[in-house]
Amino acid sequence: MASISDRLPLNIAGRFFVDSSCIDCDQCRTEAPDFFARDAENGTSYVTRQPVTPEDIELVQQAAANCATASIGDETAG
Ligand code: SF4
Repeated sequence: MASISDRLPLNIAGRFFVDSSCIDCDQCRTEAPDFFARDAENGTSYVTRQPVTPEDIELVQQAAANCATASIGDETAG
């Protein structure tokens, strides 16, 4: 489970974030390219835009569910 204390600084402010356990596998960027980008310097992904519509929120939640290292967090999740 992603940790807020390990939230990467490049993530845009808001609900969803990538933490430092990201292994740069590219899955979230492929699945939801409007919301994730690659930090080439550090070899991680980060959230570039927070989803607003229910469809986009579901897309990001799905990307989070598919992240093998559970590196995508949701601050509103219990
Ligand atoms: S799917 Fe997970 S491990 Fe892969 S790049 Fe995205 S956040 Fe990192």
